[in-house]
Amino acid sequence: MARVALDHLSVRFGQVAAVDDISIAFEQGEFIVLLGPSGCGKTTTLRCIAGLEQPTSGKIFFDQDEVSHLPPRARQVAMVFQFVSLYPHLRVRDNIAFPLRARGEGRAEIERKIAWMSKIFDLGDILHRRPGTLPPGARQKAALARAVVREPRVLLLDEPLSAIDEQFREEMRWELRHLQKELGMTTVHVTHDQREAMSLADRVVLMRAGRIVQAGTPRELFDDPVDEFAAHFIGSPSVNLIDASFSEDGVALGEAGVPIRLPERHLEALRRSGLRRGRIGIRPHSLRPAGRDDHAAVPVERPIAYAVGRERFLDFELSGQTWRGVLPADAGDSLPERMQLDPARIFYFTPEGVRLPVA
Ligand code: ATP
Repeated sequence: MARVALDHLSVRFGQVAAVDDISIAFEQGEFIVLLGPSGCGKTTTLRCIAGLEQPTSGKIFFDQDEVSHLPPRARQVAMVFQFVSLYPHLRVRDNIAFPLRARGEGRAEIERKIAWMSKIFDLGDILHRRPGTLPPGARQKAALARAVVREPRVLLLDEPLSAIDEQFREEMRWELRHLQKELGMTTVHVTHDQREAMSLADRVVLMRAGRIVQAGTPRELFDDPVDEFAAHFIGSPSVNLIDASFSEDGVALGEAGVPIRLPERHLEALRRSGLRRGRIGIRPHSLRPAGRDDHAAVPVERPIAYAVGRERFLDFELSGQTWRGVLPADAGDSLPERMQLDPARIFYFTPEGVRLPVA
């Protein structure tokens, strides 16, 4: 298992900076998820680590070894893609054995490793079947087994679950997470699905336009986003955002200028920043029915309550915008007239989307 370090990594395709001066290290055994919208450079970063793409500038290290210009074979990485690339004419066990035979390992050693993979991936029933006869989830497991049986220094995964039905994807995520921990393998996984990132990663690396916006644990990104893009990209249902004006007296929301009372230390920080206009953000789970003494509350207009699974949500209008909050499970049928923003969890953004610290 290797520690992977990217040092001022850049990749240009003509005018496009697909990866733009990225520096970050992934620790041994860490499960890293590269997350971001289409075209932000996730796959290009992964391909650089694999050796399938050449950096325009910058360096890549596996532990102390610089691998920036080594061919893929010499790097000892394994990569699994969205579409499984098993050999269709070989049974699963021969697919797993293939890279070992290619490397000249002995029969007994190969049998031992097939048994090891079979145990870890629970492949007993499918070892003797050909890939074409298997459901997508089982095929993907076989592909993962073939990838990790070589004991690569780094495991690279490019949207490996996206071709699997939603129904099985959840289970595969759970298994993948479990296996990765059991094998202790440094893993870099690419996805544009924030739910997947949040459930798999030790650390999420959120990218935009070739750059790293923020790297941290799922909880850090959720609770403490560096900017509006991060706040919006992470979290489901997504964060409520609204234009706000800041004055000596307080804060007013939306075009209608709905006043909201905020803690004095927030107002102090806003005053110090000199910001007159910006946006505030609040996650639906930090927006709940207001009690009598709650001050950071907004009026509820046109409420619509609905349930998703065990949770109950409330959509309502605020100055022409739809906001989403959460209703307690035991709230009964009457809907609240005001919803309270948890003051500790309000985000303040400049008009450019930079987060203003208020703590
Ligand atoms: P997706 O989720 O859609 O795969 P991504 O975040 O993985 O997106 P990349 O595939 O790394 O993004 O692409 C980053 C940028 O580089 C995009 O603008 C893409 O069009 C461009 N790009 C990627 N590969 C090439 C290439 N071989 N030639 C030219 N441009 C490329």
